[in-house]
Amino acid sequence: MPMRPCWVEISTRRLEENFRFLLTLAASHVELLAIVKADAYGHSLRICAPAAVRAGARWLGVASVEEGVAARAMCPEARILVISGAFPGQGAAVVEHGLTAVAWEPWQLDELEGAARAAGAAAGSVPVHLEIDTGMSRQGVSPERLSSEAQEADALVRILERFTPGSPLRLEGVMTHLFAADEADGAVTAMQLERLDAALGRVGEAGMLPEWLNVGNSAALLAGQAEKIAGLAARHGMKALLRPGLALYGLIPQFNPQFEPPEPPSLTVARARLRPVLSWKTRVASVRSIPAGAVVGYNGTFVATEPMRLALVAVGYADGLDRRLGNRFSLLVRGARAPLVGRVSMDQAVVDVTGIPGVEVGDEVVILGSQGGETITAFDLAEATGTIPWEIFTRIGARVSRIAV
Ligand SMILES: *Cc1c(COP(=O)(O)O)cnc(C)c1O
Repeated sequence: MPMRPCWVEISTRRLEENFRFLLTLAASHVELLAIVKADAYGHSLRICAPAAVRAGARWLGVASVEEGVAARAMCPEARILVISGAFPGQGAAVVEHGLTAVAWEPWQLDELEGAARAAGAAAGSVPVHLEIDTGMSRQGVSPERLSSEAQEADALVRILERFTPGSPLRLEGVMTHLFAADEADGAVTAMQLERLDAALGRVGEAGMLPEWLNVGNSAALLAGQAEKIAGLAARHGMKALLRPGLALYGLIPQFNPQFEPPEPPSLTVARARLRPVLSWKTRVASVRSIPAGAVVGYNGTFVATEPMRLALVAVGYADGLDRRLGNRFSLLVRGARAPLVGRVSMDQAVVDVTGIPGVEVGDEVVILGSQGGETITAFDLAEATGTIPWEIFTRIGARVSRIAV
């Protein structure tokens, strides 16, 4: 059956080109993990994970074991990192599907080790990436309090002690998350890398030789931090793994504060090379004329002051078109901006096409993407609703078909 016309188009060619471009920014000794969590930022894991692998990604990053199992079914060879770790009872699936869990709590290691032993896993055969909290206070062991708080020191030591030679678990990676890599002065990042350096020293003192230093998002990569992270990794006998998400989908994080010109060359070239992967479209379902004085939509929040032509479009807040956009944002019809009038409904919205000649039922309407000479970016939508592109993408509803183009 033909679908309700509210769909997302995913350019796999752009995704592959974006990934290959990002590889050129990573120094030759840095590997890139393609972040495909949250259904590839709403772009569809089914479409994006295999495309990233085709472009050369050997690592994929997902949020949960569930997402990891789904990614494994599509990408049998890829390394799959479960960023938020396994939850109680999920260890068996981690082992069975060959996922790599991030861990920082003793109970997480108990869960993984128990599952690995139950599966008869050989010593050191189940890789784990240990997260260090270098300042975000979200997840990870906190080594910076080593000197002042004995209990925290115990936490890191206790975690490292779990990787005994006979254990099926292997400390394969050390991970941290840079939480302000989009601040151009890089001061917070430098502080985090210092803390990480100290923590790596302690990992080494404990006799551990993890292979991967797993650090850095899109902002870190675009701001030219790959070199620094690779240097830190090399000093500890490790290889660096960076984890771009947003840039893979063709968007450049906004740096705040911005760089004093000149910005890093990596960022300048990225502006020319990265291209958005996702377009979100619908169609005109109905066109009507209304007289001056007519009201539009729930509670009549829009009142026509003159005769108008309106187009009903097949997208609503249940599809991810934020209800706050009513009377505040425009969609693209026939290459022109058509303002949303009245409230956005659950499944429909109304745009003013009075000034756009010839609009007909079936006309394509762009919510996100380009039409004619006009473009709506995820940053435009985010700005209009007080959020960030990551949330715009991940809020596009499950019922909106994702189509590879
Ligand atoms: C989501 C995520 C990333 C990717 O972040 P972007 O800013 O989209 O590049 C990297 N690392 C971790 C731990 C994440 O959760």
